[in-house]
This record gives sequence, C-alpha cells and structure tokens, in this order.
Amino acid sequence: MKPAENYKLWIDGQEIDAEGGEYFAVIDPGCGEQVGLTARGKSADIDRAVFAAHKAFYSQGWYGLKPYERGRLMLKLAEKINSERDHLAKLLSLENGKPLRESYDEVETTVRNFEYYGGWADKVHGRVVPISNEVLDYIRLEPLGVVGHIIPWNYPLDIFARGVAPCLAIGNTVVAKPAEETPLSTLEIARLSGEVGFPAGVINVVSGYGKEAGAALAAHVGIQGLAFCGSIETGKQVLRAAVENITPIVSLELGGKSPLIIFPAADVEKAASAGAHSILYNTGQSCGCLSRVLVHADMLENITQQIKDILAHVRLGTWDTDADMGPLVSQGQLERVLNYIQVGLNEGAKLVSGGRRVESGSFGRGFFVEPTVFTDVLPGMRIVDEEIFGPVLGIMTFETEAEAIQIANGSKYGLSAEVWTRDLSQAHRVAAQLDVSHVTINGGGGFGIEAPFGGVKQSGFGREGGWESILQYSRVKNIWVNL
Ligand code: ADP
Repeated sequence: MKPAENYKLWIDGQEIDAEGGEYFAVIDPGCGEQVGLTARGKSADIDRAVFAAHKAFYSQGWYGLKPYERGRLMLKLAEKINSERDHLAKLLSLENGKPLRESYDEVETTVRNFEYYGGWADKVHGRVVPISNEVLDYIRLEPLGVVGHIIPWNYPLDIFARGVAPCLAIGNTVVAKPAEETPLSTLEIARLSGEVGFPAGVINVVSGYGKEAGAALAAHVGIQGLAFCGSIETGKQVLRAAVENITPIVSLELGGKSPLIIFPAADVEKAASAGAHSILYNTGQSCGCLSRVLVHADMLENITQQIKDILAHVRLGTWDTDADMGPLVSQGQLERVLNYIQVGLNEGAKLVSGGRRVESGSFGRGFFVEPTVFTDVLPGMRIVDEEIFGPVLGIMTFETEAEAIQIANGSKYGLSAEVWTRDLSQAHRVAAQLDVSHVTINGGGGFGIEAPFGGVKQSGFGREGGWESILQYSRVKNIWVNL
C-alpha cells in the first residue's frame, strides 16, 4: 500500500502548501523507496501555524467550550483513529519501517491517549485555600496558550498523542512539528481531527526539517509551552531558544541508556528474554531501550547464552512480513549504529552475537542490521556511556547489590531502569536508589500512559503521562475574593 497522495501542512483546519511550495520525500526504510512527499514547512509556515493556534485559543473557540465538550471531541477523535487504525498502522510502518504489529500497538496507544485525556477534560479541579472566613481564595488550573511539540521519528504517533492530548484536555491549542522521517501518520491524524469537528487552529501540524521548521517553532515568541523529544544535542539548542523567550514551560525527553539489572533471585529466563526483546522492539530505537544489561557475575554465561539463543532465531524483515525486527529508520541511523559497533570492537568489548549490516538479497536496499550483543563491557566505554539507538546490547557484571546500583547510576542519562528479582525487599530497595524517573520490576510491559514518564539528569526534565501531564501543561492562577 502506498498513500496515493502527497501530504500538505495542516494549519487552521486546512491542508495547505508550504509558503515556499517545496516538498521532500519520505522513504520506506525497509526498501529505500519513496513512500510519498510531504510539504517542506519553514519559519513562515510555523508563523502561520502559531498565528492560527493563537486565534483558536484567544477566540475562546476551544478553551471557551465547556470542558465536557472538549472531552467529547477528543473521544470522537480517539474513536476515529481507532476506526482508521489499519490505514494509520500501514502508514506508520511505511515511513518508520517498524513491523505492522508494532504500529498497531502504537496506534492503540494513540487512541488510549486521546481517550484517557478526553476523560480528564472535565475533571481538572482547582483548590480553595483556607485563609479566613472573610476571604474566598481559590486556585484555578488554566491552559498556557499555544504549546509547541517537536516530535522524534521513533514513536511519532505515540509521542504526538501523549503530549498533545493533555494539552487539549485543559484547553491549550497546539502546533506540532513531526520528524522529517515520519510526518505522514501525524498529518493524517491532524486531518482526522478536522473530520470529527475540531475547531480550526486547535491542532496544527507542520512537516519540515529540524533546522528550519523545528528551530523556528522552538524559538517562536508566540508559544507558551514547548515539548521536545529527541537527542541531547538538539535538546540543548531547543532549550537555548526557549530561554530567549522565557517560554514558561519546557519539557525535554532526551533519551536514555537504561539498565536491566538481573539479580540472582530473578526468574532468569524471563529476565534474559526481556533483555533480548528490548533491543528487538522498534529495532532498539526506544528511549527506554534496556541497552545495558547488568548481571550478577555468576550468571553471566547462562544469561548471555539465553540472549544469544533468542537472537539466533530472530527473523528480520520489512514491515509487511511477519518479522520480529524491522530495519533502522534511515541510512544515517544505520551508519551511526554500525559505527558504534566498530567503536565497541575498538574499545575491546567482545562481540558475541550479530554485529553486521544485513545485505543479502532485497535486505541490501533497506537499513537492516543484526541484533548485536557485546560482553566484556566496562564502564567508561562509549558503547555503554552513549545512546546508540539501535539493536545493540552491552552485558556487564556486578558482584554486590551496591555495585549494581553504582554501575546503573554511573550514566549521564537517567530515564528508566528494569530490575529483576523475586526478593521483594531487594526490588523496592534497589528501585528507590536508582537515579531514574521510571523503574520496572519484573517486566510486564512497564509503561502505562496513565503514569508519568520522563527524565532525570541529561535525560531531560518534565513528565509525560498521567495527571502530571495535565499539571505540566497548565498554569496556576490564584484569586482572592474579599467577602
Ligand atoms: P535525531 O538526530 O535522532 O533525528 P533530533 O533530536 O535531531 O534526533 O530530532 C528530533 C526532532 O527534533 C525532529 O523532529 C527534528 O526535526 C527536530 N530538530 C532537529 N534539529 C532541530 C533544531 N535545531 N531545532 C528544533 N528542532 C530540531
């Protein structure tokens, strides 16, 4: 399936060409072929989008609705996305390369975000502050205004929805800039929002390059909030731009190097499987990918063997096959991952599985790499200090619980961690000491949209998910009434 059309920007409730009239190609990472074209939005288009969002905000066409009416529209959008899930999942797979099964997961998460936050719309209560019987002092949670969202390519729909839905629930309007690799599915959702009756200008989506459209959005004086998810380097640029305008709310999610800690009391088979599947899912291109596996030294051989056994049976393939793992998202990402594998070898880590690009037959046209495992990995090596964002796992050893925690925390990142142990006291003791915002104990998926997720240290700040997102995208107003 190929979308029969080229995609335009979605601004002020309409599909429109970029002001410069230019388009750029979106590529299927599984075969290198063009999926479609998308409009190349630049700073003038960001201006138009922010203006439209302003108009929609200040005309009270969105915040002026009754909260339940906003919620109802969000639920309608959720339903619409769900009814279009086949089309959306294919589109997402085409532009990102992920297996269709994973795209369906992501579309489902997108639906859930609009449902969940649609439900919150009429439940955002303020507070009454007890000052005296002569004074009524109360606190309102109000929307910020226009919120910009700069979205990465790894989970384009999920990250769009988790940021945009809470914004909308409380009455903000939004301008989103999807990644240049994966704009189509997001533009499609914007179009669906028009179909279900969202007022013009409430949701705007501008496709374009990061240095053009992304930078213009981050630096726009008209936004009152900015959510960015991407690399540390780009995050710093975005933050600098926000500083210039004193943009009041900035949320940065800048990736991770998440540890999977396997203690002797773990269900070893399940823990090893969690490690292997973490680099397979989305081809390891997840912020929360468990790319550092920390095992008790006595278990090294056993766990390494189990992970190798799982990976030996992995079927790679394009999105439309029943593959266990798809390609990387782009040629650039392929080169980055292959370079890191070489760095690992140069640093003296021992390659025990994978390590090569897959080029046989039609694989050569896409961006496939073998799932890769290193042992003899030591703190300080680049392959465990830096985020690779691919299917590469480094296995390290520890002797004591304290050492495991020390290694786990010895990272500039602090996003998430997963702990495996049947010893309940140990599980909670360790979870409390990990320098991350999210800990999973004994697997089971680990992430719910109903709970907050975000970074500490250089993984960023701000929280997406749950009630915390509503707080993040609102501002507090205090009103004193002299009775
Ligand atoms: P990656 O290098 O993996 O693509 P980035 O952090 O550069 O990760 O990209 C994440 C998002 O940030 C994308 O939407 C991208 O277009 C956007 N982006 C890239 N450069 C900039 C920039 N200078 N200012 C704002 N956004 C940018």
